[in-house]
Amino acid sequence: MTKHLYIKTFGCQMNERDSEIMAQLLSQEGYLADAAVSEADLVILNTCSIRAKAEQKFFSLLGSLRQEKQRRPSLRIAVAGCVAQQEGEHIFERMPHVDIVVGTQQFWQLPAILRRLEQGKGRREVACGLAKDFVIPPFQKLLQEQPVASSSPSKFVTIMQGCDNYCAYCVVPSTRGREISRPVVDILEEVELLVRQGVKEITLLGQNVNSYGSTNPVADKATTFADLLKMTAALPGVLRLRFTTSNPQDLSTELMQCFRDLPNLCPHFHLPVQAGSNAVLKRMHRKYTRELYLDKVAELRSFRPEIALSTDVIVGFPGETEEDFAQTISLLEAVRFHGSFSFKYSDRPNTRSAAFSDKVDEQVKSERLERFQSRQNEISLERNQEFLGKSVEVMVEGRGDAGLKGRSGSNHIVHFAGPDQLQPGALVMVTINHAGQHSLKGEMTK
Ligand code: SF4
Repeated sequence: MTKHLYIKTFGCQMNERDSEIMAQLLSQEGYLADAAVSEADLVILNTCSIRAKAEQKFFSLLGSLRQEKQRRPSLRIAVAGCVAQQEGEHIFERMPHVDIVVGTQQFWQLPAILRRLEQGKGRREVACGLAKDFVIPPFQKLLQEQPVASSSPSKFVTIMQGCDNYCAYCVVPSTRGREISRPVVDILEEVELLVRQGVKEITLLGQNVNSYGSTNPVADKATTFADLLKMTAALPGVLRLRFTTSNPQDLSTELMQCFRDLPNLCPHFHLPVQAGSNAVLKRMHRKYTRELYLDKVAELRSFRPEIALSTDVIVGFPGETEEDFAQTISLLEAVRFHGSFSFKYSDRPNTRSAAFSDKVDEQVKSERLERFQSRQNEISLERNQEFLGKSVEVMVEGRGDAGLKGRSGSNHIVHFAGPDQLQPGALVMVTINHAGQHSLKGEMTK
């Protein structure tokens, strides 16, 4: 009997991939991830705890599900992801209509937990163990058993979980645990399977992919991330390769050279800097200086001059002065990022900075964020205008404003007119004739 599943994913790409894995695991139990909340037999909220706002959004949605549960008592509600890991069984106290709480290493247990509850063994379950020696299950085996035609030409492939860097503001080490790398063979098998399912573009995913290798299973001890990138790029059918996210401190010359040597490695790099002031970087426990960051950017551009750079920035970290913030703006001016994700600092549970005394006033944080974002928007438009008249390779993703929409190697959204028979995953050349803040437009040439 088919059961219907609704999954709501909050936060990062790691969560998106985990949600896809949960849907695939549960499809073996007869669940189809095709329902709206009102028709679902099972609702999963896959949560994010990186900022207070993400957690608030989750709890308000969860609260609204109380009525649905009263209307349909057979409905099962599961909470997964980083807030589940962080709060565990306290979620039952706050939201008694929840049936299952699974942490970031335990969501693999969902099918077994559901079977137990369906057999009447208990009313609800919590599984939030976080083990140092956790091994990411060979998920690709499941893909093998259940080949599905991929709806998207692009797929994320998780290569590791957790992080050992303990940046002072970050929840990841406490919600996703210590760094654990997947065996190389599992990653390459999964990529080959996805390519057989029609995927053309692979994004290797991890909290800090640059340190892949340091926690590899004994078998792959010597494999660095640059090695893994080269092996993945060499697999037949991988037309495009990307990766995210990187910590600048572990960025090696060997890895940067991949942008020169691997033709299918896309010329876009997301390199979070977080702040431009050395004093703030030190208090954030980011183990690099602005000078080192700028040197790495210069070295990267020496290997791939046209590379598009994006970053993450936190404004208003405790103790941040106006001079410190000016350093962040001047770093933005120096690098001229194509884009960035910028946020106001917020205290997070189990982080060191939550206990820091010299918090920045909320009003000041908002004002600094507004100044940073408006300058970034100006620079993004100027960088996008550099594409005018240029011919760029675009991977078709689907319909868009001008007919078709796709993504350039530099990770820009490109709208263009083209034949209806062009399918997602097709690579076409487009000459850019319009540059906007967040996207480009052009004419297809071939
Ligand atoms: S490197 Fe990234 S994921 Fe790891 S602790 Fe720092 S901010 Fe968090």
